[in-house]
Amino acid sequence: MAQILDPIVGVMPLWDEERQSLWMLPGYVDGIREAGGLPLVLPLTVDHTDINRFMELCDGFLFTGGQDVSPGLYGEEPLPGKSVTCPERDRMEKKLLERAVLWDKPVLGICRGIQFINAALGGTLYQDLGLQYSSPVEHHMAPPYDRVAHQVDILRGTPLYKLLRVKRLGVNSYHHQAVKDVAQSLKVMAVSEDGLVEAVYMPGHRFLWGVQWHPEFSFRTDESSRRIFEAFVESMRT
Ligand code: MN
Repeated sequence: MAQILDPIVGVMPLWDEERQSLWMLPGYVDGIREAGGLPLVLPLTVDHTDINRFMELCDGFLFTGGQDVSPGLYGEEPLPGKSVTCPERDRMEKKLLERAVLWDKPVLGICRGIQFINAALGGTLYQDLGLQYSSPVEHHMAPPYDRVAHQVDILRGTPLYKLLRVKRLGVNSYHHQAVKDVAQSLKVMAVSEDGLVEAVYMPGHRFLWGVQWHPEFSFRTDESSRRIFEAFVESMRT
């Protein structure tokens, strides 16, 4: 009954503002499941007691994509007409992240996830790449999303390099925000061909990674995406 021992991964719920509903993209939970983890989509809550129970229950946490991180989190006003946020997710994720750092619980942030982690730990974001970062590189690709949109350089000596053993990697890209100033407690693992931070990690933590691309769209066709999910789940077994 090995299945009983599969690590439980708390998955941040997605919020549909129009329908006032929680939802989930299957790739997040399937990517975890196929990597040997048992995904558990969490409710949206900021209740301290509930969040402490989730911390005890879950072996790790997936910070999913979604709405923009509230610019207030990194000390900025929203650009006019640009920001669609989910403040309740920001508050919930801030509490979970603070505890995950203290408790050394594995965390993987994807897209909004890397942005949120960076902002919550004291970094800043580009609120809108189209306005604030002039580049010929397409970061906001059209579907299908399991294709390469651009290259990233992976920095030697980082956990991502140790995992994949490649200096360049083709990734998909579907984001209009990005990490600007990197939080002090994080280090860069990958940079896009036009110079944007596309992956970070926290040295000294068991596993706290963020990636700007979307392994949840490509884990079935792209080995590197699958291996990121596997490394995340594997870190919970140690
Ligand atoms: Mn990109």
